[in-house]
Amino acid sequence: MSTPTVPATFRALRMVKDDAGIRPEFQQLTLDDLGAGDTLVRVQCSSLNYKDGLAVMGRPGVLRRYPIIPGIDLAGEVISSESGEYQPGDGVILTGWGIGEKVDGGYSEFARVPAASLVPLPAGTDAVWAMSVGTAGFTAMLAVMALEDGGVSPTDGEVLVTGAAGGVGSTAVRLLAEAGFSVTASTGRPQESDYLRGLGAANIIGRDELTPSRPLDKERWAGVVDTVGSGTLAAAIAATRTHGVVAACGNAGGTDLPTTVFPFILRGVTLAGIDSNTCPAPRRRAAWDRLARDLPASALADVTQRRPLSDVPELAAQILAGQVRGRTVIDVALEGAAPEEAVRERS
Ligand code: NDP
Repeated sequence: MSTPTVPATFRALRMVKDDAGIRPEFQQLTLDDLGAGDTLVRVQCSSLNYKDGLAVMGRPGVLRRYPIIPGIDLAGEVISSESGEYQPGDGVILTGWGIGEKVDGGYSEFARVPAASLVPLPAGTDAVWAMSVGTAGFTAMLAVMALEDGGVSPTDGEVLVTGAAGGVGSTAVRLLAEAGFSVTASTGRPQESDYLRGLGAANIIGRDELTPSRPLDKERWAGVVDTVGSGTLAAAIAATRTHGVVAACGNAGGTDLPTTVFPFILRGVTLAGIDSNTCPAPRRRAAWDRLARDLPASALADVTQRRPLSDVPELAAQILAGQVRGRTVIDVALEGAAPEEAVRERS
């Protein structure tokens, strides 16, 4: 296979900070501008996550240095690698490990990264599929695996997903239903009930049905995937069945956890923490292989939009305002095209 050529300059969205403040700028970069790493990747797609919205809008707490290329997910093809693990042309995925936060991320036509942080693109998939899944889908998969590792099986009874209409939640609903579980989806948006049923939810409950009342409630959930935290997580734990497993993924509703030790010492409930950022490589590969099996591109098409890199600043504002539904793939290679043209050219 011939080695793909690298242009003298390429386009990237970079966050810069100076006396005028923090802002996104489209810049022409050279390879010398990129960070350290043994592998050069031509980025085909990235994605848009809430965290990316915070970064591009210059909100505090995400970006650790300037200038930096944001984008916490990327998928593309290896141009060259000194690792021995990857060959030119190999398809790869990178989520987490601090990209788009501490080191340069996916909003760039090229990325230089450590091979150890990459996952091979599963057979039969492509970069668009990988970024339709992205960190949100990967996190949902890790949560489902945590329930299964804890011995929760479909015959044990109902499982609960909180924040179900969100990115992590809706993928968890779909994956659990696919695995044969009877899924109850908790949402604050009753208008999304049809959407959630379409993903496989057997039952929908309102967000306000999960408020903590007492340390131990009537046993209901065999397992829980929680993306909300705070009182919602506490209420879910209180109603988790003996030896059930609760996977804690997020803090959309708050960072506190007003519970007691009773569910853990009187019912043997397991609270499993999910951190997609630092997930070890073997588990990453297992999760992505399972996603390729259980979440085909056809299942994601209806909940995914594709947009060019030039739209990212506008999209960042929209996701923070809660105006983005489902997943957004950022087509890094398509520049300047209108969204409709982007979809047409690539499909
Ligand atoms: P989304 O914004 O897409 O979804 C969050 C959902 O939480 C919303 O759709 C809503 O669900 C619910 N929600 C929002 N605000 C509140 C509130 N005040 N009280 C109760 N429920 C609320 O985010 P993601 O799905 O991408 O992420 C979910 C969480 O997971 C976030 O906290 C995120 O930081 C975290 N996360 C963690 C990762 C990890 O590695 N652990 C990786 C990725 C994300 P509904 O409308 O159905 O009520």
